[in-house]
Amino acid sequence: MNKQIEVVGLSKTFTLHQQHGVVLKVLQDLSFSVAAGQCLVLHGHSGAGKSTLLRTLYGNYLAAGGSIRIRHRGAWLELVDAAPRQVLEVRQQTIGYVSQFLRVIPRVTTLQVVMEPALKRGCSRSDAQARAKNLLARLNIPEPLWQLAPGTFSGGEQQRVNIARGFMVAWPLLLLDEPTASLDEANAQVVLQLIAEAKAAGSALIGIFHDRAVREAVADRCLDMSPAKPPQEEFIYAG
Ligand code: ADP
Ligand code: MG
Repeated sequence: MNKQIEVVGLSKTFTLHQQHGVVLKVLQDLSFSVAAGQCLVLHGHSGAGKSTLLRTLYGNYLAAGGSIRIRHRGAWLELVDAAPRQVLEVRQQTIGYVSQFLRVIPRVTTLQVVMEPALKRGCSRSDAQARAKNLLARLNIPEPLWQLAPGTFSGGEQQRVNIARGFMVAWPLLLLDEPTASLDEANAQVVLQLIAEAKAAGSALIGIFHDRAVREAVADRCLDMSPAKPPQEEFIYAG
């Protein structure tokens, strides 16, 4: 198995300084790995820590403990204590992330937003533009919108721009936070195809999908993030 990421004993806490320093233990002792060409689906109720895990893997949050090792430029790199410069390089070369919401920058056009990851990797402008246009068309973003900044787009349109951007380059590891949440059936199908193509091209994926049909279509494995249930008392209905 060609592992792309290996996580061992990962934990993450939030300390709520505004609320008497209450400590939330959101991730506790998580271990898993994902191979190239595989999709791991995160499972668990709302608030289980799924988005927090993706943000921790992307380096937005500092882990409280454990290890996140990623194959970066042919060598294993520990992300938990990586220097900020290394984290930036990993985000440019190795880990892609489709967050739940598009970060919109005024005056930056949709086409530019989508092309950016490829340009940052040194891809030529014409190749990047061709790929971006192809993705925007596949995701049914009307062509007149391509030269506009996506700030005024609908939620679903912004999400599709975000998805196009995420699939611009062949990431060794791609993180997806509910990419189909506000999409109609036809566009959700396009996302399923993009995921299948990324897997076939050798990407490892870690995703959150609240739609069961989508989950079953893409998952190779599931990681259950629900907290361990307390032992249930047996209940006997006496009539
Ligand atoms: P999920 O994506 O599984 O619905 P989240 O990862 O968003 O869950 O949240 C997990 C828990 O961590 C929740 O209880 C949430 O309130 C808390 N949480 C998430 N982000 C923060 C933060 N930045 N500061 C404090 N608490 C947070
Ligand atoms: Mg979430």
